[in-house]
Amino acid sequence: MIGFDSASAAAHALARCHSCGRAEPIEAGHCPRCHASLHLRKPDSLQRTMALTIGATILYLPANLLPVLRVESTLNGTRESTIISGVVQFWQEGDYPVALIIFIASIIIPVLKFLAITMLCLGVRFGYWPRALTQLYRVTDYIGRWRATPGGKGDGTARALQSGCIAAVAI
Ligand SMILES: [Zn+2]
Repeated sequence: MIGFDSASAAAHALARCHSCGRAEPIEAGHCPRCHASLHLRKPDSLQRTMALTIGATILYLPANLLPVLRVESTLNGTRESTIISGVVQFWQEGDYPVALIIFIASIIIPVLKFLAITMLCLGVRFGYWPRALTQLYRVTDYIGRWRATPGGKGDGTARALQSGCIAAVAI
């Protein structure tokens, strides 16, 4: 079992409620405010993390290959856009910075996060390279703030507005 820093609340047997955030002695068992169970660490966190990572990896392909936007226009008919097709269209029209941002945020960063989280889980499970994995965790946590941008969605909206026609946009 991984120990706690002596300055931490957990080292003094204080647990933070995962539901409402209140700190209570672990002996209480349940949070007096919301009655949730108290834990020093989330139970089965490694298994949950791996399960969620595998699920996210499986859903990554349909998320990027299925349409995220449909534009119905009286003049141009119906057109559907995926994230990939949005990147390609921006690139073909010379909007290279926008295409790169969408590509990196929607395609590259999720793959890097899947790999990093898998390495972190394996490292914790087998006790490999704790210092290097701590750095990897910090980088992954920082990059995690970069969420996928809805650029592909804005693509169709902008084109519908530029064309000046009556159109319906479904996201
Ligand atoms: Zn609570």
